[in-house]
Amino acid sequence: MSNSTVLEEKGTISVQMENIFPIVKKALYNDKEIFLRELVSNAVDAINKYRHLTVIGEAEKDEAELKIELDYDKEQKLLTIRDNGIGMTADEIKKYINEVAFSSAHEFMARFQKDDAAKAKGTQIIGHFGLGFYSAFMVAKQVEIHTLSYQQDAAPVIWTCDGSPAFEIKPGSRETRGTEIRLHLMDDELEFVEEPRLQHLIRKYCDFMPYPVYLKETKANRQEPLWNKNPKETSDEEYLEFYRYMFPFAQDPHLWVHLNVEVPFSFKGILYFPRLSHEMDPAKGQIKLFCNNVFVSDQTEDFLPRFLVTLQGGLDCPDIPLNVSRSMLQNDPYVQRVASFVTRKVADRLKEMYTKEREKFVSTWEDVHTFIKFGVMEDEKFYDKVKDILIFKSSKGDYVTIKDYLERNPKLDKKVYYTTGEPGQQSYIEMFKAQEIEVLYLTTLIDTHFIQYLEFRNQEVKFARVDSDLSESLIDDEKASIVDPKTNKTGDETVKELFEKELKIDKLTIQVQSLKSEDVPALIVLPEQSRRLYEMSRMMQMQGNDTGMFEDMLNEHTLVLNSKHPLIQSLRKSADLSSAKDQLHLICEHVYQLAMLAHRPLKPEQMEHFMRNANQVLQIVASKL
Ligand code: ADP
Repeated sequence: MSNSTVLEEKGTISVQMENIFPIVKKALYNDKEIFLRELVSNAVDAINKYRHLTVIGEAEKDEAELKIELDYDKEQKLLTIRDNGIGMTADEIKKYINEVAFSSAHEFMARFQKDDAAKAKGTQIIGHFGLGFYSAFMVAKQVEIHTLSYQQDAAPVIWTCDGSPAFEIKPGSRETRGTEIRLHLMDDELEFVEEPRLQHLIRKYCDFMPYPVYLKETKANRQEPLWNKNPKETSDEEYLEFYRYMFPFAQDPHLWVHLNVEVPFSFKGILYFPRLSHEMDPAKGQIKLFCNNVFVSDQTEDFLPRFLVTLQGGLDCPDIPLNVSRSMLQNDPYVQRVASFVTRKVADRLKEMYTKEREKFVSTWEDVHTFIKFGVMEDEKFYDKVKDILIFKSSKGDYVTIKDYLERNPKLDKKVYYTTGEPGQQSYIEMFKAQEIEVLYLTTLIDTHFIQYLEFRNQEVKFARVDSDLSESLIDDEKASIVDPKTNKTGDETVKELFEKELKIDKLTIQVQSLKSEDVPALIVLPEQSRRLYEMSRMMQMQGNDTGMFEDMLNEHTLVLNSKHPLIQSLRKSADLSSAKDQLHLICEHVYQLAMLAHRPLKPEQMEHFMRNANQVLQIVASKL
């Protein structure tokens, strides 16, 4: 049969299974909107093919704009997708629509029924198994193809099918090259003749397709994604504009990574570091995955490392194998290469910024640190790449690496003092500052885990919270306590015994030290390791575990009495005054309570006790006026 004559013909689509449509419909039910993606993608392919033919001189070029048009008619319940691509002859329809599609459909069904994971990925499998066109039957009760091939003397053809395996081919009336797909929608699918819905779908799936998509004569897609542009020629303003376009309600980001490679595999994208309004901002990350400019998914956690998923942006990976199940995807060598490539590029960009734009790096740190710390703990290679650019806010006001910190505080012998920022640590920080020792601020939830990780990777570095032990550099060891000939004890021993006798508090250790600072009479220290365990237990508690034994650990604390402080010195002298027994008890309790109060908030019953003591102390002072 020549292309210029179309004989009327009825037939049955070649398919081994009985009626395939109900199964297709059910399989893809949840995501039936993807029919539009499939049909517009076919239109793009058809235009691409035509353009290719004009380039190699096989087809004649004309002036008409290459485009895709969507049209709808609410009354007729009709949605039309039109292109001026290569078109089809009757023979091609028979070959590509009636046969090929269905044999691959069969393959799809065979796979679909035995693999649950494939079911989840049903929507993505469809295009790759040549089922694309037939997705139209998810929403249409009847589909017509009106087409005219680019070939000289070609005759227009109409193909009609009502969703049963029976089809009809007859001569058509189309006068210009291209294909028009007419969908007669089912009664409960009329959302697809609603303008806003169609606009949304075009924006979602077709935004970056390489030809204009018109919805009733208005261009509805953006066409060019910014990642196609050469990074060297792209300005900050363009990156920001593109970000605002993709994520309209978010704050402008400070930092992004533009990926644009052809070798060893083709791969493009832009990843933005979102501005976090607070730590663990869960709604933030969103990376949209495209395959040759067609939106495929934003469920990128299947193939990117978890920490990258907290970024925002788009990636176009033309070779991504969408027809495999989720679990296979992670083990796919191509996918692994892409993932590690992205990780490497992100690390490189951060390093480059640290070296070349230090000020900017520091000012964006608060936005990116959670992401970086998360990445460091999740991926060893990422850690190796960024380990020298991890910075911490110092009590001196600037940001330093651990290496800088240790160099600037050589007295500390590889110990890093930090604060988690609670008010109870302020008096300790002041003591460190007075001795010109820096303290680092580690104030976010992730930091507890992060320092644990850093200690694990750098065995010689230890982190200690300001209230976890007394740094040697805070203690003045010049003056030894003199032994009193009457009691045969040093003054320090006397005070220690006094407090031990008067306080009798479970799990409390009492120490007397001569601190360099004369401002505080006493302070509480909590061993670093038990406090960390306690913090971990609190997290477990939040997950509903019983953590009673950890509570005990926090009770293990030490009261350090400052023998330099006048109050403690007075107590040394008066410790054995039996006439002042009640008052000594009151003072010891109050010293302890004040130290506790500076350390962490009191429980209600402790507070009540504290108030009572405070009033009694004032009473004594007043009576001596
Ligand atoms: P796939 O696109 O995966 O090959 P489809 O079922 O979507 O599978 O389409 C089957 C074939 O029908 C295509 O490969 C193409 O040859 C032809 N076809 C579909 N839509 C068009 C169109 N708009 N213009 C020209 N040919 C088309």
